[in-house]
Amino acid sequence: MHTFVRCGKLFTGRDDGPIDGGMLVFDAVGRLAYVGAEAGAPQRARGDRLIDHSGDFVMPGLIDVHTHLAYGNAKSEEDIDLYSPLEFRTLRGMFFAQKCVAAGYTAICSPGDAGQISLSIRDAVKAGLFDGPRVVAAGPYLTTHQGLTDWYPTWIGAPETSIGKLVTNLNEAIEEVRRQVKNGVDCIKIALDGVQRRPDGELIAAFTQEETGAIVRETHRLGRKAIAHAVGREATLYAARAGVDLIFHAFDLDDECIAAMLENGSLLCPTLTHPRNLVDFTQAHEPAAQKGRVEATDKRYREGCARLRKAVSAGVPFLAGTDSGFAITPYGEWHAKELELFVADLGLSPAAALRAATEVNGRFMNNGRGEEIGVLEEGRAADFVAWDGSPLDDIRLLQDRSRLKGVYIAGRPLRIEDRPYDPRQVTDFALSNWTDLYTQARVAELRIDAGATRPRLAAE
Ligand SMILES: [Zn+2]
Repeated sequence: MHTFVRCGKLFTGRDDGPIDGGMLVFDAVGRLAYVGAEAGAPQRARGDRLIDHSGDFVMPGLIDVHTHLAYGNAKSEEDIDLYSPLEFRTLRGMFFAQKCVAAGYTAICSPGDAGQISLSIRDAVKAGLFDGPRVVAAGPYLTTHQGLTDWYPTWIGAPETSIGKLVTNLNEAIEEVRRQVKNGVDCIKIALDGVQRRPDGELIAAFTQEETGAIVRETHRLGRKAIAHAVGREATLYAARAGVDLIFHAFDLDDECIAAMLENGSLLCPTLTHPRNLVDFTQAHEPAAQKGRVEATDKRYREGCARLRKAVSAGVPFLAGTDSGFAITPYGEWHAKELELFVADLGLSPAAALRAATEVNGRFMNNGRGEEIGVLEEGRAADFVAWDGSPLDDIRLLQDRSRLKGVYIAGRPLRIEDRPYDPRQVTDFALSNWTDLYTQARVAELRIDAGATRPRLAAE
């Protein structure tokens, strides 16, 4: 039994232009048997099904390679790490993974998570227990006392429930790679940015070049992919020289980094949405604004885009990912904003942006051990989405859920109910109570009249 899908326009992910009047044919296990013009399609046999998307733009299921399933739309690092048990976070992550599918994202990479949350969600979906996206999963970030994700003072350390796994020497790092691979991760995440800066402002990497190389070699020896968080130039350079498969951010990259990326085949996911949303959405009263993060991020974003455009021109492959899972990047909401920013701020064509979120992302997601995704072609999985209108005319269309006409994974239609929930019971369990400091001067400045609300207790 085969299923035929009549498409108004068919964008395969392989070419920039769509096929007018296309046809997809897939078999009973959801593997594509024909992709092309309807005129060249095989004959329908008795018992074959027909799905009509003849009024729609059909394309490969969208992929976001930077969605943290463990974070729960967190407002703080403590919220990510401390206040809810791993078991609750896993159930929460499953719920939010479905929000991604409902937005047309049929596959995500969860690059750095506490415990075994993402790989458990991956396996539960794969086993058919829940509807959800395909997941490529990492475990906790490998970090050092100089690294991102080792947030807390040394007397607290990195708790078991943290997204960071603190390693204090190379042997521990290698052991952690082996442990995570045994537990079933698809990739190893390295927190390569440090926290110290040189006098000229450059970030110092958390690991040395030699340590980075050894971690990546062991990861590759065990058949897994290495991924790294690297904003700073040094971290980006170490990652690229070591042959990290996918580098996130790279906002401070230079020509040397670009050359090393091209030489070693590193892919780059800049993740523009998170900083852009931080600048666009943060309100003046919020701690991120009070701490000056909005101005700093705006500057980093503008300078970063200028450098990233050089990497685009040099031919470094750009992958689309958003850092969804924070309060400024809630699941299912902003995944396709990345493509709008690719067009507006990196100068990609809408077709190139679409291919970034499909074909190019697929190069990272496919590991040769499972079904191939990212491109609609014979032999690959029938993961596709249908839109009312063409994102090639306006890439922002992909952010409009009312235009999404169908989501299919391995040929199976997914309809995720838009289930309401109480966000206050899901995250934001931080213990802070005040955002202001009530000195006498501040109280006077705020013109607080305590007398107006305080009852008179003494007998008159
Ligand atoms: Zn991230």
